[in-house]
This record gives sequence, structure tokens and C-alpha cells, in this order.
Amino acid sequence: MYQIQVQKDKQEEKIYKTGLVYDPGLTDRLYDNGAKFSSEIVEEMSPFLSIFLSWLLPMFIFILLGQMMYRQMAKKAGGNSMMFGMGKSNAKVYVKSSDGIRFSDVAGEDEAKENLTEIVDYLHNPEKYREIGASMPKGILLVGPPGTGKTMLAKAVAGEANVPFFSMSGSEFVEMFVGMGASKVRDLFSQAKEKAPCIVFIDEIDAIGKKRDGQLGGNDEREQTLNQLLTEMDGFEGNNGVIILAATNRPESLDPALLRPGRFDRRVPVELPDLKGREEILKVHARKIKLYEDVDFAKIAKMASGASGAELANIVNEAALRAVRDGRSAATQADLEESIEVVIAGYQKKNAILTDREKLIVAYHEIGHALVAAKQTDSAPVQKITIVPRTSGALGYTMQVDEGNHYLMTKEEIENKIATFTGGRAAEEIAFGSVTTGASNDIEQATKLARAMITRYGMSKDFDMVAMETVSNQYLGGDSSLTCSAQTQTAIDREVVELVRKQHEKAGQILLENREKLDELARYLYEKETITGEEFMRILNQ
Ligand code: ADP
Repeated sequence: MYQIQVQKDKQEEKIYKTGLVYDPGLTDRLYDNGAKFSSEIVEEMSPFLSIFLSWLLPMFIFILLGQMMYRQMAKKAGGNSMMFGMGKSNAKVYVKSSDGIRFSDVAGEDEAKENLTEIVDYLHNPEKYREIGASMPKGILLVGPPGTGKTMLAKAVAGEANVPFFSMSGSEFVEMFVGMGASKVRDLFSQAKEKAPCIVFIDEIDAIGKKRDGQLGGNDEREQTLNQLLTEMDGFEGNNGVIILAATNRPESLDPALLRPGRFDRRVPVELPDLKGREEILKVHARKIKLYEDVDFAKIAKMASGASGAELANIVNEAALRAVRDGRSAATQADLEESIEVVIAGYQKKNAILTDREKLIVAYHEIGHALVAAKQTDSAPVQKITIVPRTSGALGYTMQVDEGNHYLMTKEEIENKIATFTGGRAAEEIAFGSVTTGASNDIEQATKLARAMITRYGMSKDFDMVAMETVSNQYLGGDSSLTCSAQTQTAIDREVVELVRKQHEKAGQILLENREKLDELARYLYEKETITGEEFMRILNQ
């Protein structure tokens, strides 16, 4: 600050102060006007104050703001205002109660249960193992399609062993801030070690255990969480009584470091249940609802081929709901059968109005499928044919039910299946001389089978045993990607067309040979709307 003194006259003296002004002519003008002035620094800010104001104060303000935000978020995240509660794991602790899940609640899955029984035995009796020097696997990975009972199995191990059960989903570790997930992992393990022996269950581990691909802009938070998990798993001794179970339906996407011996070194497949497994699962769930005596579980299990445990539980529940809706005091066989169809094809569309001609076309279409299936060897018997529209968009369907389990399929069986798919369209062509859009789903399925025969099963003319396709995500629908040159793809496409055309022609031939039966059965179905496999066979064999 400079001080300028302006002297107007002797009596009146005025003092002006001003800051530094850039004006080269100012001094001269002041002299000319007779002003007296001096330049002296009047106030100089103390260096401490200056540093404080320009550096420390803004820093304090930022820290204060940051803390306020932190507190608010901590409140939101954990429901408490504890500053350091944020990185705490919110694993649910299940301490064994008398109604805990046991192995007997998990039906089927005998192999998985046998595998896990060893773990239960170890948790009961660690000395036995320690004496010999055997150490239990630290981690067990349960792999299989969704709804096959992986979570249930993990809970059952804890229930049988009578130990605390920590359960957390992989996605719960994923946080907004880098390092937060890792601190949750640390926290979970320290809690688990305190409660040992115990079981830690991480559901959907692929959410954090995905391969680290080192891509630019990769997910730092997830990688740190995974690294922490790897470190924790290395960090505890095999015999301290903490067993980690994890479930996933995408084992191929997991980081190899996670799967190496010493971490998740045991893999227990939990597959879709087979016929016997399905029957047992139905029985387990049927205990929870009221049923008439005459229910034939074996038949329901046969009809529900390919259903997972969760779907079977759903089928039983749907049957009970249907019984309530219709005012019955217990569910019947018909309720169960109908609920399978609900799960497969959706509810009946009560108010869908088809024209007579459309209904007749659908009847011919369905009988076409059934007739082609019945006239070929090695086809699954027809269980039911219906032309009642469903909410899934199906205007009718033919249900074929395999007797017993089927693990292998011969080339002829697949060809016959393709012929059966094309049978619907073939019947339309023969009866009406024109085609409709109704076959779109059949076309899709027939093509899929034909393509798989050529690209995956080595059943083609030209490609011998060469894999043209790889399947990823085998438990989640099995997407496949072609692994061959463009020329080969063209050749594959040609062969697929040829294969399907051959079967389509075969189906047409079969129907032409049975033209009268086709008409008779289609008329019968048209009138009845739903017929059973026995009715169908009776008319066919008359
Ligand atoms: P996942 O973890 O494999 O996706 P869950 O264990 O959560 O499947 O199973 C979902 C539901 O399905 C269970 O609550 C249970 O009602 C039913 N379920 C699945 N598998 C079985 C089984 N093997 N026995 C009895 N119920 C089962």
C-alpha cells in the first residue's frame, strides 16, 4: 500500500491513500499540482498470515467439506454415522438354528452332497485330519446352472456342521471407491477367523473373480478386491477351520490365480437334476403343500425334463396357487401338469380368439409334429397335444416326454428330431398348399440342431472331427462363436441348409404316406383342443 498525501491549501490538508497504480505520468502530474507525496509501504501482510490465507485456509475448508460428505455417505451406506464403518463387510451371519437347512432338504445332487460331507466331517472332527497331516481344501467352488441349489448346499454344510455361516454376494464387494471392496474382504476374513470354525459363502464370485485382463481403463476397484481375496486365502492356514465356499455359473471367466491349488482347489459340479433327482426335488417341495394322494411324481418329473431345482419348486407352488384359485382344498395331478405348462409356455390365453381357419392350421401343424415323431424310430413318445394359445405366444404345442434319462444322442436321433421340427410346416404345406409364420420357432430350433451337428458334434460330410465352434457360458444358455474362416462358414451354411432340407422332405414324405391319419387326427384335435398321447396313439393305430 502506498500513501499519497495531497495538500490542497494550508488549512485543509487531505490525505489519500492508494494502492500501486500503473501510471507512468502520475508522478509528474502530482509534482505539477503541488502535491506532496511519499511512497512508503504502510501495511505489509505478515508472511504467516499470507501463507495461512492462501494455503492453509482453503485446505482446511476442503478437508472439512470432505469430512462432511464422508459422514453423509457413511450414514447412507451403513445406517450409522461411524466414520470408519464404511469398509465393513455386511456379511449376514447365520448362526445355526434348529430349522436350519440340512442335506435332507437338498434333493438329488448326490455327488455334490457326498463331496461336501467330507467338509462337514472335517468341521466336526478336525483332529482326525490333523493327526495324519491332511489339510482340507481352503476353498470349494460350486459350479452349475442357476437354480440348481448351490446356495442351499452351502447353507446345508453349515447346518450339518453346526457352525456359523457368513454369506455374501460377490457384487456386494464392488464399491464406488477403490480400496473399499478390499477392506470389506479384510474385514470379512477377520470376522470369520474370530468365529472359526465357520463357513464363508461368496455367491456369484464371478462379480469379483473375473480374469484380470490388464486392459486400459480396467476396473481398478475389482482388481484390488480380487487381489485382497487372493492374499487373504493365502494368508490363513489350511487347518484353522475357515472353509470358503463360492458359487458361480461362469467358471470359465474366473481368474486362473483364484483356481490354483491352495485357493479354490476343489470344484464341485452342481448340475441340472436327472429324472430321479427331479422326482426327489418335487417330493421335497410337495411336503410344503397339500396334495391329493394319487399324485404321480414320476410322471411330473418326466414331463419337466430339463427343469432346474428352482423351477421345480416353482412348479409345485404354481400348482398350489392354481388349486386355491379353483377353490380346491388340495392340489391335484392336473394342477401339477398344468403348472409345468405354465412354466414352459406361460398361462393359457383365455381371450385369444383364433379364426376357424387359423385354428385348423394350428391343429394340422401340431399333428404334423406328432405324426412325424410317432412314425420315426427313437423319438420320444407324444405326451400331449394342445392348440390352446399361451401367453408366451405359442398357439399350440406338442409335448414329447422321454422315458428315462438321455445322456447321448445318435446322429439318427438328432436327424429325427430335426424332421419332427419340420413336420409342422410340412403338414401345413400338404393340407393347405401354403405356409404360415407359425413355424418360426421350429425353424430356429431345427437350424440350431443342424448347425451343432456340423460345427460341434463332428457329424458332417466334409469337416470330419474338427471343431468349428466353441461354446462359452455353458451354464448360461451356451453361446457359441464360430472359429473358422469365412470360406468354411459358407460351406457350413450350405451343409446346414442341405441337412434341414433333407429332413423336411423326409417329414413331408411321412405325412403324405399317412395323409388320412393326418386329416383325421387334425380334425379330432381341432374339436377337442387338447388331446393326450394315448388318444393320439389310439386313433393312429386304429
Ligand atoms: P443357486 O444358488 O444354484 O442359483 P439356490 O440354491 O438359490 O440356487 O436355489 C433356489 C431355490 O431352488 C431353493 O430355494 C430351492 O427352493 C430350490 N432348489 C434348487 N435346487 C434344489 C434341490 N436340489 N433340492 C431342493 N430344492 C432345490
